[in-house]
Amino acid sequence: MSKIGCTCGETIRDTAEGLPYNGYLNPDTTYFNRIDQATADVVAFLSARENGSERQWLSECFTADYSKLQLPLGDIIHDILTNHLFRGQMDVLQCPACHRLLIRRSDEPSRFHGFTPEGALQPDIFAPPMQSEFNAWLDALLNEPIPPEIIGFCFSLTKSAFGPWRIELGSSDTYSATDPDWARRKTFRSASGSPLLSKSTKDETVNDALEYVTRLLRAYLQRKSTGSDILLRARGVAIGLAAGRLQTIISK
Ligand SMILES: [Zn+2]
Repeated sequence: MSKIGCTCGETIRDTAEGLPYNGYLNPDTTYFNRIDQATADVVAFLSARENGSERQWLSECFTADYSKLQLPLGDIIHDILTNHLFRGQMDVLQCPACHRLLIRRSDEPSRFHGFTPEGALQPDIFAPPMQSEFNAWLDALLNEPIPPEIIGFCFSLTKSAFGPWRIELGSSDTYSATDPDWARRKTFRSASGSPLLSKSTKDETVNDALEYVTRLLRAYLQRKSTGSDILLRARGVAIGLAAGRLQTIISK
């Protein structure tokens, strides 16, 4: 499925993972049963692995060809889990224009059921908290003139001893996929820290804060805007602690 037409006339893209307007719905009648089945299969697979019948077990659970792939343990457990957890799950898309929820049952893959909201209070039901504040902050920064030599952007997280996490955006005329110091070598502009993470990440760990900002940024990149175009055209975009390892978001 690539494009879905909403009743209001809007066309919604469904072409990538991690879409900020896409979610999943599970019936209570089957959800916990599926988790139980997935758990039982993982246990059975690990037992088969111990007693030397791994190949036969994989052949029966998947296919003979699958059993010959000799995939890493993590990949196999992933496949066992998704085999059960995705079964019976419904896709939900929220139309960005009318905010209607469009639900697709797994047994009716070509049909969407539309549900209209009571009001416009929650236009982005699947977006992380603070997404609209993050979008507005980044839109304002990236709408400022940017020197043509800028090819890399780095989001840096900082935290005072008792204060909230803050984020800054730096831009650089250098980028290297292999040298993580590119982001600190020559920064033309470093926007002042935004208070936008103060509400939700005050008590969270470094990893929580990094994961949260990554989620906000990925959702920002999915939304068409001048700012997202600039970031998507850059050679490199990364997120990290002001004095720590960087996580690459875009690398060309
Ligand atoms: Zn619509």
